[in-house]
Amino acid sequence: MTISASTNPIAIDVEKGVCKIDKVDYPIVGLGTYPSTGEVCREAVEKAVQNGYRIIDTATYYRNFDAIAEALKNQDRSLFYIISKVWHTDQAPEELRADLKQTLQQLHTDYLDAYLLHWPNSAIPIEKTLGAMDELRKAKKIRHLGLSNVSVNHLKRALEVGTALTWVQIEMHPHFFDVELDDFCRAHGIHVQAWGPLGRGRLADDPFLTKIGQRQGKTAAQVALRWIIQHGCVPLPGSKKEGHIRENAAVQDFTLSPEEMEAIDQKAKKGKRGRYTKEVLGISDEFDFSYEQCWPRK
Ligand code: NAD
Repeated sequence: MTISASTNPIAIDVEKGVCKIDKVDYPIVGLGTYPSTGEVCREAVEKAVQNGYRIIDTATYYRNFDAIAEALKNQDRSLFYIISKVWHTDQAPEELRADLKQTLQQLHTDYLDAYLLHWPNSAIPIEKTLGAMDELRKAKKIRHLGLSNVSVNHLKRALEVGTALTWVQIEMHPHFFDVELDDFCRAHGIHVQAWGPLGRGRLADDPFLTKIGQRQGKTAAQVALRWIIQHGCVPLPGSKKEGHIRENAAVQDFTLSPEEMEAIDQKAKKGKRGRYTKEVLGISDEFDFSYEQCWPRK
């Protein structure tokens, strides 16, 4: 089964476990790098590269660009798909351009594969933000654009701007699945990257997933990642241990049955997302915003 949209350069081959981007195959499991920095992050990225990872997720907020650059310094840049995210305070055009410039400098690269808005900030007009991102895309500093931590209302507003959106990066794991958003993305040719795919580590001991995995000699973590892949999404598990890095990549040699997928779906749909407060983000998350509140027209 291949999941693709005609206007989107991404196609997910679920059987092969491949994310095809502009006709290049990347193993579908990417590496999440938060909250690793410095040597820990460098070592994690090096181990991931040795184990075949090619998609790497970072963000300005993570403060680990230099470590990632160090880990990739002897690698062929064109083989990697690097995702970064701009913090919600820096999404006005001038700040965004400065963020990207610094990001590229610190990552020692000329371009980002994907540049996402880390959190929506409805106080900054989305037309201006996406306009600036699109100019940077045309200048070949960014290949693909996207949003993170958004609701369907944000997506409706963002799509009205008319800028091509390739990705949405959202919380998704067997304890939380925003089906409405997933359906909306599918209908509009936007692909989903799953953050926190292991429920921030909690799912590794989940008895229900453990039981499903035992039938196929797989761990609960592998079942969680496989569930995401069979939904046509790209999981970004965070890990610094080589054993986990290997385990998380070894998810192409088994398939969850339709009944197993459905059973996990049913539980995940009832789960609650992690909410972020003003103390953590500096602004409250916007998950409760109505369509009118998302990037209101002035
Ligand atoms: P996760 O669900 O990937 O869990 C990470 C935790 O699981 C770590 O403690 C790790 O040691 C542990 N782990 C990894 N593999 C394991 C295995 N096989 N068995 C047992 N434990 C295992 O959560 P996360 O790291 O928060 O999210 C993944 C990535 O998503 C981050 O690293 C970051 O890149 C991204 N992220 C993005 C956002 C966003 O706002 N867009 C938010 C959070 C995370």
